[in-house]
Amino acid sequence: MSGRHGNKTRLFMSAKRKKHHFRIKRQTHFAPDTVPSNNENKENSATALNTPSKETQELMEENVSSSSSITRLNDLNIVCENDDDDCDEEISNDKLSGRRIVDIKYLFSSISNIKHQHTDCTFADLKFVKELRKGFTSQYVFRCKMCQKVETVHSEDPTSKLNTNTAIVEGILCSGNGYAQLNEICSVLNMPNMHQNTYTKIEQSLTPLIEECAIEEMIAAGEEEKRLAILNGEIDKEGCPVITVVADGSWAKRSYKSGFSSASGAGCIVGMRTKKVLFLGVRNSYCCICSRSIKLNKDVTEHRCFKNWSDSANAMEADIIAEGFAKSVEMHGIKYKNLVGDGDSSIMKKLLLKKPYGSDFTISKIEC
Ligand SMILES: [Zn+2]
Ligand SMILES: [Zn+2]
Repeated sequence: MSGRHGNKTRLFMSAKRKKHHFRIKRQTHFAPDTVPSNNENKENSATALNTPSKETQELMEENVSSSSSITRLNDLNIVCENDDDDCDEEISNDKLSGRRIVDIKYLFSSISNIKHQHTDCTFADLKFVKELRKGFTSQYVFRCKMCQKVETVHSEDPTSKLNTNTAIVEGILCSGNGYAQLNEICSVLNMPNMHQNTYTKIEQSLTPLIEECAIEEMIAAGEEEKRLAILNGEIDKEGCPVITVVADGSWAKRSYKSGFSSASGAGCIVGMRTKKVLFLGVRNSYCCICSRSIKLNKDVTEHRCFKNWSDSANAMEADIIAEGFAKSVEMHGIKYKNLVGDGDSSIMKKLLLKKPYGSDFTISKIEC
């Protein structure tokens, strides 16, 4: 949403709630003359905004006999953006442009199944009226030229458990990207993007599922390491399987041998035999909500705070790895006997200090 894309932006008016506001949204290939140029135009648009929802309901009813409402709809250059609505954008026939994602098999099947009783109308008799878009999923509304029946074709199965919106957010997260990158991709593709609020809602709903899956995978990896250790007779005097692990960490900010000042760091422990992750941790020393509240001298509002670190950045990695060692018996029922790692001596210092498996158990370091 940077200034360099100014020629690709368009002013849309939110509606339907008291919270009316203007919002700039990148949308390519829209004619510049559709942008409200002055207050008068904005007011006209605002007055007209209440109309489509009523018209939409009318259109959704079958056997609408009059076509005047469609004419009026087509005349309106309206885009309503509201994350609380079922539809976050209405695109009339004359404004339809750009690309979309569809479930091709479902779409073709829906089209071929259109047949009106008592008449021989088919898809060829339908006239496109408008698109109701919710993120990357759409409903295409048609009216039959012969019998005036209204047909709605979905871009994908609306009962699908993993719809395109969720799948895209998951894909963006898995590729290490965010909403800004999705916006860039959509801009290049000339494809309308989902509202940022919708993206955030989906992202928040996915986070616990991703965490759950990650834990399940780590537990399964631990089981495998345990089985292989028992198979190889690698058990300590207390009867606990012992394994070799590889561990390392990283910061979110590059450092050049000194000046470790990253606000975020991550670390993980991987089983040597399976090459699978057994533990991972994150340390954050900054939270923008907490920080802003402190700066403005205000009470911190309730939020999901990610700040969990107040020590130095270069101590993050050792703390995460030491936590992983301390939790190995609880998580996997195994002990980490040998640690393969880089020349960073702080991890071993921390492990010698913490003694996660008691003073009798020696953890060996293998330099790599
Ligand atoms: Zn018909
Ligand atoms: Zn916070």
